[in-house]
Amino acid sequence: MGLQTIFRAVIMGPPGSGKGTVSSRISQSFGLKHLSSGDILRANIQAKTELGLLMKACIDQGQLVPDDVISRLILSNLKTMDHSSWLLDGFPRTVAQAEALDTMCSVDTVINLNVPFDTIKERLTSRWVHLASGRVYNIDFNPPKIPGLDDVTGEPLIQRDDDTPDTVSRRLKAYENQTQPVLEYYRSKGVLETFTGTETNKIWPHVHAFLSKRLSGNQQDTGKA
Ligand code: ATP
Ligand code: MG
Repeated sequence: MGLQTIFRAVIMGPPGSGKGTVSSRISQSFGLKHLSSGDILRANIQAKTELGLLMKACIDQGQLVPDDVISRLILSNLKTMDHSSWLLDGFPRTVAQAEALDTMCSVDTVINLNVPFDTIKERLTSRWVHLASGRVYNIDFNPPKIPGLDDVTGEPLIQRDDDTPDTVSRRLKAYENQTQPVLEYYRSKGVLETFTGTETNKIWPHVHAFLSKRLSGNQQDTGKA
């Protein structure tokens, strides 16, 4: 489907809340370009770029990378997507990052996946990812067709170095302290839309319905007031 107006969305939620899975469904269903800060950082680590090597320790310990580093990286990526609709995943993660994004453009909607921390902890340890595409599988509820292999490319899946129980706890702390204030930031701007649940497959129909409505509204807006 072609979007007549440019639509800019952010997806938020604690680590393992299903942002990656919901993001790929959104980009498939609505044609928004998916940009994931975590995927970009992991690609840099994989390719052993200077940035990747510098940030690896930080990421493996479950800490956030510095605001100025990630903001510069993401904003320069967004500049190349000037005329497309996009969905940002993993950025902004601090109020400083949200303010940096605001200097470039405003966000139309923020999809907040509100998943209980208890659910998340057990989920992350059964998670497998395809590094090159960011596709996420879960051996319990969203397994690959062939165990250990990506459905699309047939390449091997890996477990992330930061999906260990201790690191997951630190990532949840970072989320509480540094990222939850960003939800308030967007709530006060009136663009925050929260979806609560424990299962991605149950949350997804609500996200789909919401975006269908928002995007068709958008298209009518171009004709009307
Ligand atoms: P999940 O992908 O399961 O939702 P997550 O949100 O913790 O979990 P990613 O978004 O992939 O994972 O990020 C992995 C790591 O990369 C983070 O723990 C952090 O170290 C770093 N990182 C990613 N995005 C940012 C950001 N916007 N600011 C600071 N650090 C970031
Ligand atoms: Mg992710």
